[in-house]
Amino acid sequence: MKNKRLAQWLQDHLEMLGHIDDEKDNTFHVALYESIIDVALNDETRMLNSVLESAAAHAVAIGRELTDLLDVSQRLRSRIWERIGEEIDPEPAFAMLSDLDTIFVHITRVTIDTYQEGTKLALAARASEISRLYTDSEQKVMEYAAEVVRANRELAQLEQAKTDFISIAAHELKTPLTLIQGYVNILSDLQLGDQAASLAGGINRGAERMGVIINDMLDLSALDMNTLILIIETVNLKRTLGLIVDQLQSSLTERNQTAEVNLNTLPEIEADGRRLHQIFKHILYNAIKYTPDTGHITITGQEVAPTRTKPACVQITIADTGVGIAPEDRERIFEKFYRVGDSDLHSTGQTKFMGAGPGLGLAIAKGLVEAHGGEIHAESPGFDMKNFPGSRFVVTLPVNVRPRPGIQIERITRPKLEEAQETEADHA
Ligand code: ADP
Repeated sequence: MKNKRLAQWLQDHLEMLGHIDDEKDNTFHVALYESIIDVALNDETRMLNSVLESAAAHAVAIGRELTDLLDVSQRLRSRIWERIGEEIDPEPAFAMLSDLDTIFVHITRVTIDTYQEGTKLALAARASEISRLYTDSEQKVMEYAAEVVRANRELAQLEQAKTDFISIAAHELKTPLTLIQGYVNILSDLQLGDQAASLAGGINRGAERMGVIINDMLDLSALDMNTLILIIETVNLKRTLGLIVDQLQSSLTERNQTAEVNLNTLPEIEADGRRLHQIFKHILYNAIKYTPDTGHITITGQEVAPTRTKPACVQITIADTGVGIAPEDRERIFEKFYRVGDSDLHSTGQTKFMGAGPGLGLAIAKGLVEAHGGEIHAESPGFDMKNFPGSRFVVTLPVNVRPRPGIQIERITRPKLEEAQETEADHA
């Protein structure tokens, strides 16, 4: 019954068709209209069914006839039919009306079934008491149901707009950026004076930073659109994390911080090594960024035994002695573009204390961890710029990769030595 065009058309005609003058039936009509949009958009009849069940129960309770109840949906169907017939060319109109009728057949069936069930119940129980309860509560249930459907749809539309924006912006920016980088390369091959060479260097650094952000946006859009492919190999987490800490050593020294890796007994896991590198590098960059000078970062790990519902996993915890995270932000920091505090702060390098970024890193980290079938969450006593309570980021990954639905994997098996050399070269 999913028909995006029908859903959009109904949404556009909400003002015109979503209400009726008849006060007695308006609540049901509104809830019905909203739920029909929901069905056309998501092919999901749960909300519609609960609206119909509430309406039928209410009708039984106030002694209303079944035909009266069916009349509300039939009138709505006629109004929509008439309007689509006037506005839309016959061929697309036919497809919309045919899907619409499938929905109305469902509505009629569920209305009749639940009305009959309700009648049986009402007869069996004390009618007056049920009547009082239904009259009070069922009307409200219907109102809430319509509100929930509407709010959900608006949220889904916002989320879709974010996804579309990221994908379009990243693809559109990629081409001019490649051009800039090409010209900078040509410039640096010329015999430039010191001043011009330093300017070219500045352009190059800016272009590289922009390249990182665009690649982040491309990764996010691949995760959202299920086009990401994980290249699965055997990964030694101790080596991966040790390598990252080595790479971040100059930033740690610059900030007078220390990092300790304590991962002696972990098993190797199946994962995309390059993606794991990306995940942990980002979490570690954040740990450096949100910890004051002289702070300390500790990386520990443990095996988690399988349970009836969860496979064997390894759990890596990255703890810092930084500013911490307020309880209300602990989940939201994993959303796209979400940044705690002042959004007017501009990006100021990857490791400067409290240097703001675009707010994409943790969204990508979460997306990539979940793509492997894992989980990530943050723990912290709260945000405090004076006492520095610290944060812990806990990443749980299955020992045998369990890609989430929509994620494709390719497995590579290579001789160990060659693998080690290549992974190190890739990550350098
Ligand atoms: P950004 O590009 O802003 O760093 P992220 O997605 O990496 O974006 O992080 C989102 C927000 O989460 C950050 O703006 C920061 O407020 C908070 N955050 C991330 N890591 C830490 C940490 N280790 N300690 C405290 N806050 C953190």
